[in-house]
Amino acid sequence: MRRKLVAGNWKMNGSLAANAALLADVKADFASEACDVAVCVPAPYLAQCQALLDGSPIALGAQDVSKHEAGAYTGEVSAAMLLEFGCRYVIVGHSERRAAFGESDELVADKAARAIEAGLVPIVCVGETLAQREAGQTDTVIGAQIDVVLHRLLSGTVDRIVVAYEPIWAIGTGKTATPQMAQDVHAMLRKRIQAVDAQAANVVRILYGGSMKPDNAAELMAMPDIDGGLVGGAALKAKDFLAIACDV
Ligand code: 13P
Repeated sequence: MRRKLVAGNWKMNGSLAANAALLADVKADFASEACDVAVCVPAPYLAQCQALLDGSPIALGAQDVSKHEAGAYTGEVSAAMLLEFGCRYVIVGHSERRAAFGESDELVADKAARAIEAGLVPIVCVGETLAQREAGQTDTVIGAQIDVVLHRLLSGTVDRIVVAYEPIWAIGTGKTATPQMAQDVHAMLRKRIQAVDAQAANVVRILYGGSMKPDNAAELMAMPDIDGGLVGGAALKAKDFLAIACDV
């Protein structure tokens, strides 16, 4: 059985005061033994959140990482730096980075490989646009996105990734994929993983993301290949995040 993972993606939100209030509320009512829980925070707040989460079962994550190890790469943040601030997870290839910052499948694969090499768990995001779904290209697009990553990873390390299926049309829109729509894509992703590493296919967690809320999380996570959620907007409200993470 795969242990479920609920990860909050705060995106570019927060402030010292807001983070302290949010995490105090989350910690106060946190009661989740049934699944792993993490928050992926903006890089400048890693030290603050590391301190706030000290001694708590809630893990820390970042939202991006450089493909480079170190050196003259102005503005980049390395995997080693994330580790120093207690990160366990790092999101790579979020659709907002692919669309707004031109990240290619190859760059995303390099970042995932770098994260694993450093000892982080990359949460590799894949997803299709509405136009691609309507054109019947969902499997082709997502299959290509995941295959580039799977073929880039060193053999024997595929089981160290988490995958997140985030249909772009469902992100921040209030529209959610139906549990069956999501399950179909998750099953396809698991088959792709199986094709390169049968053992990894059983253990890699595949999260759903895109307008996950307390009222739809349970039915999504009840599907056989949906192993948790990558939660945006609802992760900024302690009550909603807890309702998703603790009701698994
Ligand atoms: P929303 O939950 O706000 O739709 O965001 C999903 C997401 O992009 C998480 O990475």
